[in-house]
Amino acid sequence: MKKRYTLLLLLAGFLFFQSCQEKKAYRALLITGQSNHNWAASAPILQILLDQTNLFTTDIAQTPAEKGDMSNFKPNFSKYSIVVMDYNGDAWPEATKTAFVEYVKNGGGVVIYHEADNSFPDWKEYNEMIGLGGWGNRNEKDGPYVYYKRNELVIDTTKGKAGSHGPQHEFIVKSRKPDHPIMKGLPINWMHAKDELYSTLRGPAKNMEILATAYADTAKKGTGRDEPMLMTITYGKGRIFHTAIGHVGKDKTHPAAECVGFIVTFQRGAEWAASGKVTQPVPFDFPSVAGAVTRPDYKPVTLEEDLDKIAAYEIDKSTKYLTDLQARIRQATADPAALLVLEKQMVSILKQQGATVEGKKLILRELAWMGSDYCVPSVTELLKVPELQDAAAFTLERMKGPRKI
Ligand code: ZN
Repeated sequence: MKKRYTLLLLLAGFLFFQSCQEKKAYRALLITGQSNHNWAASAPILQILLDQTNLFTTDIAQTPAEKGDMSNFKPNFSKYSIVVMDYNGDAWPEATKTAFVEYVKNGGGVVIYHEADNSFPDWKEYNEMIGLGGWGNRNEKDGPYVYYKRNELVIDTTKGKAGSHGPQHEFIVKSRKPDHPIMKGLPINWMHAKDELYSTLRGPAKNMEILATAYADTAKKGTGRDEPMLMTITYGKGRIFHTAIGHVGKDKTHPAAECVGFIVTFQRGAEWAASGKVTQPVPFDFPSVAGAVTRPDYKPVTLEEDLDKIAAYEIDKSTKYLTDLQARIRQATADPAALLVLEKQMVSILKQQGATVEGKKLILRELAWMGSDYCVPSVTELLKVPELQDAAAFTLERMKGPRKI
């Protein structure tokens, strides 16, 4: 009997495991192992970002080290919806190159991440997939420079080297295709965290769309042009998303990869490469042009964290969490049910013994413009609290005829 139970439990566990696995729509293969960058740091970051979407199960294929024996490097590309390239190194065996080209021609997706556009300067098909590349003795033989000059797309056949960047700095990324599924809903301009601004890339640029550019300021040793940052390319039936941002070097921190703008466009680009669609909503903390926003642990802040931090708020502390909550409220304004969910959580802070006076004041200020009948009794109750009576009175005054629920 006991044995049978154990078997049943094992079966149930297996089925549960299977159903969890099935929830992920796509399989991703992340290729890494050689680079002039810190691939040992970037590959785990990219894996975390893919996992976070709940869309991908990711395998990592690590190549042998530089000048190692590549003959056994032959991933089975056809098992995957996307191949993410975090690789800049030795040539692959001919059979592996052919298999990769076939995979993309037949509809396989690819994500080209930052320095992967430096890789394989002599591999014609790879350069057609990336659209534009840099370094590796690339020059006019590899294709034109492609960039924007103000609002004009420029295809520039001037002779010269490909690939450059000035010192790392924060810069504005500008959407050029706001209706593309990857860009839809993102602000037209947003501030990217400190990064290399890849410039003077050149390549075949066939079947390529530039989704976003960044102005390479001459004051930062830039070209004075709007350089392509995010691109899509089609190759056969395959879709390629190319992101030139997200540098991960030897430093202890990686602001470019922590940037919410990099994270979100990478995640959306990966889904688009896999499916041609993007189902991921734009998160609340997506940056505006006002300033870069980073996630030091690569994870988005949850509503619970926002509320906990606001409940503990003291004057002079960061109001980042309030900004986050305000963004959530803004997103919910068209949906009374979603707004009420937020309002209930906010009211629970007003009732919390342990919440700070300053935290409660922040909540009262928000309720003044978005509160409904629901919050009125709790706000009225605060008229009895000396430190909060003014703020509560202000809220009730502003809410005259609060939204009915
Ligand atoms: Zn870099």
